[in-house]
Amino acid sequence: MTNFPLEEFKALRTPFYYYDIELLRKTLDEINIHSNYDNYHVHYAIKANVNAVILEEIRKAGLGVDCVSGGEIEAALNAGFDAQKIVFAGVGKSDWEIELGLQHNIACFNVESIEELSVINSIAHKMGKTARVALRVNPNIDAHTHHYITTGLAENKFGINLEALDNVIDLALNMENIKLQGLHFHIGSQITINEPFKILCDKINELTAKYAAKGVTFKTINVGGGLGIDYENPSQNPIPDFKGYFNTFHENIKLGDNQELHFELGRSVVGQCGSLISRVLYVKHGTSKKFAIIDAGFTELIRPALYQAHHAITPIAPRVDAPLTKYDVVGPICESSDCFGEDELLPQLERGDFIAIQSAGAYGEIMASQYNCRRLPMSIYKR
Ligand SMILES: *Cc1c(COP(=O)(O)O)cnc(C)c1O
Repeated sequence: MTNFPLEEFKALRTPFYYYDIELLRKTLDEINIHSNYDNYHVHYAIKANVNAVILEEIRKAGLGVDCVSGGEIEAALNAGFDAQKIVFAGVGKSDWEIELGLQHNIACFNVESIEELSVINSIAHKMGKTARVALRVNPNIDAHTHHYITTGLAENKFGINLEALDNVIDLALNMENIKLQGLHFHIGSQITINEPFKILCDKINELTAKYAAKGVTFKTINVGGGLGIDYENPSQNPIPDFKGYFNTFHENIKLGDNQELHFELGRSVVGQCGSLISRVLYVKHGTSKKFAIIDAGFTELIRPALYQAHHAITPIAPRVDAPLTKYDVVGPICESSDCFGEDELLPQLERGDFIAIQSAGAYGEIMASQYNCRRLPMSIYKR
């Protein structure tokens, strides 16, 4: 469990992000141990967090980067990642973003439509380049997660549908400035069981066998990200089950000779190493409810407001003998969705108490906004 240095915190303005870099290192070690096959390549989905200290650790651990915008490509290059380890996904790549990727010879564009494929081909032609491309396939798998973060079902803005794939592959193979090198999949996010990944493997085997029979092979198979973390018990389960995750692929996917398997993990890499630290401002006694009004809001962590997500709310120095009391833990933003938890059973709270909202390392700091003219918070590190 992350031990929070309360005395150190007392001198600081809240809210702030607290990153346990030691835990991040252990997490990266686990990833490297369990993905230690010659043909496995793990990329970090940089959209989860671009904090420079975190990127440095991830780069040192040898991971590549999965980007979804030109800004993310720039962030990855600035952090010292090799362009050869950068892949670029996203449904709406602008011309300048495609040019940027080509200019730096990034490893691969993950292409999501025919329309995008032909734009990349013509920009590459103009620049005298060849774009390495993987086609993002929509495998029609229900990943059993929240509908906002399920991306692998058929009717979806992401990816190319199975029925259209033959045609897109034919087109890609005949485009002069496109080198078709792979297939790409990403079935959703916060997936905490291995079953959907096994189903994905079966689907991939089916597809690669079908195309191999036609003489079409792919150098890379990219299975995306989506491995979930334990939001309810982050202190008990600080590191996701990477062993089970990578084993699921190892046991189920059939790879050809020299075929590479690529992963793009975001949340599972950085989610548990970050906490949002906040002070209780007021304990307001309503008619039937008690509200713990804290100084962090959805401006610092938007997941609860955006996806009805729940994060563990942990008082940093709980009053041991105090009775447990139910609180609605809410932020200061002028929106009723600015709520971290309803009827949270917590040791009695008082003004000034410190609270950690855990598992805030992924999709926390990167989604921070200045709504209500709030200041962007600082980050503190445990190394
Ligand atoms: C968001 C995203 C990921 C990472 O997802 P996590 O759930 O954070 O692992 C990987 N690949 C693509 C294409 C994505 O959009």
